[in-house]
Amino acid sequence: MRFQFYLPTRMIFGQNCIKQNSAKLARLGTCAFIMSGKSSAADNGCLDDMTQALSSQGIQWFHYNKVTPNPSLEDVETAAAVARKKGADFIVALGGGSPIDAAKAVAVLAAGDLPADALFSQNEFETVLPLAVVPTTAGTGSEVTPYAILTNNTMETKSFLTSDQVFPRLAFLDGRYTMNLPKKVTRATMVDALTHAIEGYLAVRATAPVQLFALESLKQIGALLPVLAADGVLDLEQREQLLYASMLAGMVISQSGTTAVHAMGYSLTYFKGLEHGVANGLLITEYLRYINRARPDDVSRLLNTLCFCSLNAMQTFFTDLLGPFSLTPKEADKFAAIAAKAGNIKNTRPEPTQEELRQILDNCFLK
Ligand code: NAP
Ligand code: ZN
Repeated sequence: MRFQFYLPTRMIFGQNCIKQNSAKLARLGTCAFIMSGKSSAADNGCLDDMTQALSSQGIQWFHYNKVTPNPSLEDVETAAAVARKKGADFIVALGGGSPIDAAKAVAVLAAGDLPADALFSQNEFETVLPLAVVPTTAGTGSEVTPYAILTNNTMETKSFLTSDQVFPRLAFLDGRYTMNLPKKVTRATMVDALTHAIEGYLAVRATAPVQLFALESLKQIGALLPVLAADGVLDLEQREQLLYASMLAGMVISQSGTTAVHAMGYSLTYFKGLEHGVANGLLITEYLRYINRARPDDVSRLLNTLCFCSLNAMQTFFTDLLGPFSLTPKEADKFAAIAAKAGNIKNTRPEPTQEELRQILDNCFLK
């Protein structure tokens, strides 16, 4: 056996964890640039908890609430200019994957004088500002990954920043902040976590500890799927369970990365406006059918862990939960061609050809 496992984020899980650990923020710097989306951080209480914690440590802070879902390269350049102007020496992100990923990019851009597109071509930077994050969706796992996924309008897709230097230093996980997530966001983000665990388990880069985390994550998510399909109302304990499962799935992809599902899903988001998790959830079963031809034992273990009796049962579940959605043959061609060039295709075992990707898209979306 041979592997490496590097995850330098301190994960602090539990109710009131920000306030109880405010002293740890003081080690990051003296002036925080807090990044969030428009309103959810204020509504769910994490903004108040964070600003009180910072103030209690004598840390200056500035709140920037202009991060939109699927942030672009242009968005993070604008935010970095503001952070630099405010003299921030560390970044705090409050929100879903969008503010957290934007914050990772800003941590790089605000620290130096880099052109923004260097984010995608380099994975080592001279300096990166320290980062503390508070996930308020339970899905992306971005709180424990070394990735930021940004809309790349030049390439007409989503591109990756990958660097060990953007692992957050601190991740505060408090399930209370996710209590009022709308059903639609809960579904999309939970399905995103599920695809992280499945893809990470099957990835070329998967390792023994990664597979252990993936199965535990799927066990926790599988137990919640019936609730999600019924009324979608989760109590605090279930919200914590989901946040935990999402964190585990983030730990999985932090080491093993994602595969063909994410590669194809980015076009569904970029061109068709589907939420990231919905795009992945609509693709996951056909992807498993494709993998099943070469690795039936692995697929069967994943299905059992999720408590699905067959791929057909899984297909029906996700179509009912997330569908309907369709593509034209021309769109399927274009999206297969874009996905075939994505780095995570090489992380898929067996590695699909462009024609096989097209077949998966056809099976999912051509009427
Ligand atoms: P998101 O885009 O961050 O947020 C979606 C919506 O949910 C926003 O309208 C947001 O409102 C709202 N919201 C967030 N927290 C809420 C809460 N507690 N209560 C009510 N509403 C809340 O969604 P996401 O799915 O978490 O993130 C998706 C992004 O993450 C995509 O760009 C995807 O590519 C990326 N991603 C990154 C990784 C990684 O490893 N870095 C992995 C997977 C996905 P506000 O705008 O008002 O906050
Ligand atoms: Zn994802």
